[in-house]
Amino acid sequence: MVNTPLIAGNWKMNGSWQGAAVLAGELASRASAAETGCEILVCPPAPLLYPVAAVLNGSPVGLGGQDCHADETGAHTGDVSAPMLADAGCSYVIVGHSERRADHGEDDGLVRAKAEAAHKAGLAAIICVGETLDERDGGQAAEIVDAQLDGSLPKGAGPGNTVIAYEPVWAIGTGRTPETGDVAEIHALIRARLVDGLKAGDQLRILYGGSVKPDNAQELLAVAEVDGALVGGASLNVDDFWAICRSCP
Ligand code: PEP
Repeated sequence: MVNTPLIAGNWKMNGSWQGAAVLAGELASRASAAETGCEILVCPPAPLLYPVAAVLNGSPVGLGGQDCHADETGAHTGDVSAPMLADAGCSYVIVGHSERRADHGEDDGLVRAKAEAAHKAGLAAIICVGETLDERDGGQAAEIVDAQLDGSLPKGAGPGNTVIAYEPVWAIGTGRTPETGDVAEIHALIRARLVDGLKAGDQLRILYGGSVKPDNAQELLAVAEVDGALVGGASLNVDDFWAICRSCP
C-alpha cells in the first residue's frame, strides 16, 4: 500500500446527540493516544455534525458528511449543501452510496454533480461504486463498476479531493464479503482506470466497503490496491471501529 490508508465510519441514520458525543469522544481520545498509521474519519448524520465536530476538535479524527446536494443553496427541502458541510467542520463527504442510489434514485450524473459541488466547497468526495448481487452473479461486476466510475468521476478529480469506495451492494450490512481475489480484481480495474484517466491516478485512495469487521479487516486491508475501508455497522461500536483502525498494514 503506497497511500496512507483511510478508515471512514459511516454512521448512517443512527445515533443521538448524547450517544454520538460519547462515541466520538472515546474514538478521539484513543486516536490521540496511539498511532495507527491510518487517517480516521467519521460521517455522522447531518444533525449530529456540530456536536461531533465540537468533540473531535483538536483530535486526529476527521469529520465527513454522508451526502450533499449538487446545488450550493436553494429550495431543496431536507437537503444539505456541500458549503454547509464545510461550515460544520467537514473535510469529506460520501456521495453515491448505494443506499442513496437505491432509496433516492440517484444516478451517475447526479453523483458526479455532487462530487463537483463537494470539490467546489473544498471537500474531498468519497465516491461509492459497486455491483448488486444479480450483477455479480451475471458476471457483470467489472462492467458495472467501470460504467459507474465513468459516469460519476468528475474531470477535476485527484488524490487531494477524491477517494473511491468499492462497495459491493450485496456485502453492505449483510455480513457477507467477497473473496479477497474478487476484491483485488475490482480494485485493480479501478486503479487502471484512474491511472488511465487522471494525472495522479496512482495516488487516489481506493477503499473497500461492505461488512468490514474486526475479524476480517486485516485480510481485506492487505489486499493489493485496497487503501482503507468504508465501515458502516462496525463504526457504531468504538471497540470494533478502533480494532479496524488498528488493522491497517
Ligand atoms: C456502508 O454503509 O458503506 C457499509 C459498508 O456498511 P456495512 O459495513 O455495515 O456493511
